[in-house]
Amino acid sequence: MSCACPRDEPLVNAASMARVRPAPPGMEWYPLAPPALGAAVDFQDGLRWLRIPLPGRLDHINVWLLPAQGSGWWLVDTGMGVPVAHAAWDALVQEHALESTLRGILVTHHHPDHFGMAAALATRCDVEVRMSREAHRAGGWAYAGNAPELLASFGAHWGLDYARVLDQANARHLFRQVISGVPPVTQPLEDGEVLTGTDLPWSVTLHDGHAEGHACLYAATAGLFIAGDELLPTISSNVSVYAQSGLVDPLEDHFKSVRRLRMLSTDTLVLPAHGRPFYGAHARLDLLEAEHAARLVEILEHASEPCSVMEMSTKLFRGRTLDGMNQLLALGETIAHLHYLERRGELQRVEVAHHAAGQEAAPRFIRATLA
Ligand SMILES: [Zn+2]
Repeated sequence: MSCACPRDEPLVNAASMARVRPAPPGMEWYPLAPPALGAAVDFQDGLRWLRIPLPGRLDHINVWLLPAQGSGWWLVDTGMGVPVAHAAWDALVQEHALESTLRGILVTHHHPDHFGMAAALATRCDVEVRMSREAHRAGGWAYAGNAPELLASFGAHWGLDYARVLDQANARHLFRQVISGVPPVTQPLEDGEVLTGTDLPWSVTLHDGHAEGHACLYAATAGLFIAGDELLPTISSNVSVYAQSGLVDPLEDHFKSVRRLRMLSTDTLVLPAHGRPFYGAHARLDLLEAEHAARLVEILEHASEPCSVMEMSTKLFRGRTLDGMNQLLALGETIAHLHYLERRGELQRVEVAHHAAGQEAAPRFIRATLA
């Protein structure tokens, strides 16, 4: 459920990135050092920027306290429901007196690093959680876990033993282990809504592709855009087909989202969930589109001969050492791109029987012009 795309360079510790990495071409870092893990710094327009530690290479998530109308705060995103985050929040709740000043929690999407602490913080501070209907439903599905028959039919469609893939990634029950619960949402975030409880008039936009109903917040008057995982400075948001989602086309949705984000003013300051705030949204969008387009071309090149999902994933991510979770993300990305091309008639599916005893025929994909 990490947002890190395994095709990217290995993630680096955010603090070291801040020291050594210049901003990518066309982008410029906001001139403020990130807060330490578990700490906060004052940001512009009265916002506070907090960093919650995450286990693993992703290192941290940025969460934001937005000034509420009158007094108090709205929190955007929460961290994963794991001991390091609980410990960080124990200190931050006290330091910012959130039990008396928090007015509500906004969650961009259901992935555990964003949603994981929402239930615990909502209970502790006696506030409500707001997220989109789609994100809340996806969180409920993930919490419930996939039924074995769903995994079997998904795996059969793509020629994978998907239950085994999940088990190798230790992912079958992972979601439930890293979130503090699924809180009720009585007032879902709506696309086009302008928040009224906050000091600034934040507009809500909802995006599919990386996650269902991912909310972004845009304060055009202040030139601020809270991007969640929709627009990250140095890593690509993972775009995967999941068993629970059915045969939607998340890559098409992601392209739509990228096109929609071009409405951002060119001088917008982007506040991402991972990495540093930056200017240069349009340069980053150009690069993201180009990366996906290049991958589609690469797939069509590999599909000059029939290729299974697993074979294609190995070709696309060759030379990279993928652990269980990253292998799962790589497979999800591979399927999303294959599905996109198959839906457009650029790839065709052929069934090639496995000769090994006990194995069913696995679908393979070939360039349509060669079929
Ligand atoms: Zn995410």
